[in-house]
Amino acid sequence: MLDGCVPWPEDLAARYREAGYWRGETLGALLRRWAGEYGDREALVGADGRRRLTYRALDAWCDRLAAGFAARGVAPGDRVLVQLPNTPDFVAVCFALFRLGALPVFALPAYRDNEIRHLAELSGASAYVVPDSFNGFDHRALAVSVRDEIPAITQVFVAGDPGAPDAGCVALADVDADPVELPEPDASDVAFFLLSGGTTALPKLIPRTHDDYAYQTRITGEICGLDASTVYLAVLPVEFNFPWGCPGIIGTLRAGGRVVFAETPQPLACFPLIERERVTLTSVIPTIVHLWLDAVEEGHGHDLSSLEVLQVGSAKLHDELAERIEPLLEVRLQQVFGMAEGLLTFTRYDDPRETVLTTQGRPVSPADEIRVVDADGAEVPDGAVGELLTRGPYTLRGYYRAPEHNATAFTEDGFYRSGDLVRRTPGGEIVIEGRVKDVVIRGGDKVSATEVEGHLAAHPDVQQAAVVAMPDPALGEKVCAYVIAAPGRPAPRLPVLRELLRSRGLAAYKLPDRVEIVDSFPLTGLNKVDKKVLRARIADKLERLAKAAA
Ligand code: AMP
Repeated sequence: MLDGCVPWPEDLAARYREAGYWRGETLGALLRRWAGEYGDREALVGADGRRRLTYRALDAWCDRLAAGFAARGVAPGDRVLVQLPNTPDFVAVCFALFRLGALPVFALPAYRDNEIRHLAELSGASAYVVPDSFNGFDHRALAVSVRDEIPAITQVFVAGDPGAPDAGCVALADVDADPVELPEPDASDVAFFLLSGGTTALPKLIPRTHDDYAYQTRITGEICGLDASTVYLAVLPVEFNFPWGCPGIIGTLRAGGRVVFAETPQPLACFPLIERERVTLTSVIPTIVHLWLDAVEEGHGHDLSSLEVLQVGSAKLHDELAERIEPLLEVRLQQVFGMAEGLLTFTRYDDPRETVLTTQGRPVSPADEIRVVDADGAEVPDGAVGELLTRGPYTLRGYYRAPEHNATAFTEDGFYRSGDLVRRTPGGEIVIEGRVKDVVIRGGDKVSATEVEGHLAAHPDVQQAAVVAMPDPALGEKVCAYVIAAPGRPAPRLPVLRELLRSRGLAAYKLPDRVEIVDSFPLTGLNKVDKKVLRARIADKLERLAKAAA
């Protein structure tokens, strides 16, 4: 196992192998098998519908890309930052790196300088793959500046225009060589890194092994009944665990289905794709559900009748919204709760309607172990709220290169402390009730309060900042910054603080949506800022303002 990663203990690993969860196959080898089985069926379709790749073509492209990367010095064990939008390139680059035994480090397209530098340094990446530009942002310029400042990064690969020759970037199209024999990586080793939802200041790296991810995508694909007729629409950024492997893109490829990429979640972009490609399954967050249902109510003129299942997860789906989905979209709703760290819970197609509407379902694997515990770590009875702890065959045992954090993020017997407050129903379903971790879930994006507070405190007019979630009808939650002004300084205003954070290279979704200036913070008995009180205050205030405006 890669240095800096924490392996499963031998006895558990042996049990997972004996039970057939881990089958010793690498993701790169699996694609070769699928290409053999599904040959000329279409595997990937770009949003414009012009780029269409069969399994055979994808497999051959991955071999050439792997050889091309190897020829350009990318070696087994190297980490490679991959920050690409929803296109076939993303899948090809990842599988090429899997074949090579190099490890993709997923970077969200929304990430800017600050996040990318952090990921580059933490992962020790030697290469960085970007689009030329996306959503009006010049990714190539970002990549060049990161490469020029971080000595370990020696290469930038660009999907699209590599720019002027003196910038020294390589076009992905030129990463192409005759296939070569490559040593097969070990299936128990790390295949790639997902990102944590930011409970700490900046994302941590979640190592996912070939064995564990192959299992996750297989079991979730089975639960969802995927087969060669499945057409999956990748709406969320592909770097998220949800569209990549729950069962998502990999699960669909395993079943011989077709993956279609959407470049934005807007109904105006997605509905025509659903109609054109006869999409059967997709996975979204509650914010997107809102957009889609509103568009359906307004009338949109597209035929969505092929859509059979809508998976919703990543943030709490409230009952009222859940109830509108099936009648308006004429689909089956599947609630998904989970984390890039591992554990996934799904409602099942044959669950009673009440269960589907009001719970986040049951664990996907019989080997998922769950504990719901109180603040002292003692298990609480079913129906009582506690923190969810978990371990299992696809749940990490430690973040990459993070021994100190791991010491508190896991129990001694290897259970991951999710930071989510849940209750368990007598039927074994999980219901999300809140969280102990300090994160704002803005739409599906996780914003670490600690990270934003750290940046706000850098402003000379800010003495102290406390970031909390405030309710928002569209996004579920938004970012509210309570600020104590520095003595004798003017109270900082929202645009000024947003500009500060932007200039410090923070992704746009992390910028505060509102600032509340206060003289002091409420404190808990342990003299920590009492965020529960702050959250209640801002929720109260917004309600009063809304009433006054009505
Ligand atoms: P990520 O690793 O980015 O997928 O974030 C995982 C976190 O998202 C979980 O620990 C939860 O806090 C939250 N989450 C995921 N799914 C749901 C859901 N269905 N309902 C509420 N929160 C969710």
